[in-house]
Amino acid sequence: MKQCECGTALKEAMFNMGISTLTTKEKYAMPKNYQMDAWFCPNCGKVQFYARIPESEKQKGNQL
Ligand SMILES: [Zn+2]
Repeated sequence: MKQCECGTALKEAMFNMGISTLTTKEKYAMPKNYQMDAWFCPNCGKVQFYARIPESEKQKGNQL
């Protein structure tokens, strides 16, 4: 579950954006392909995009 900037809890992704390449902040890291989801907030109408980061990536502290 995600939370919108306005404080509304977003329960599920509205649609799947497919694979998208993200460039990390790490200088020597290669761009990685992540599954992207779009989350729509019914309260403020904002659409946000999140990558599905594998648990193994999160554990490395590689937060986006
Ligand atoms: Zn919102």
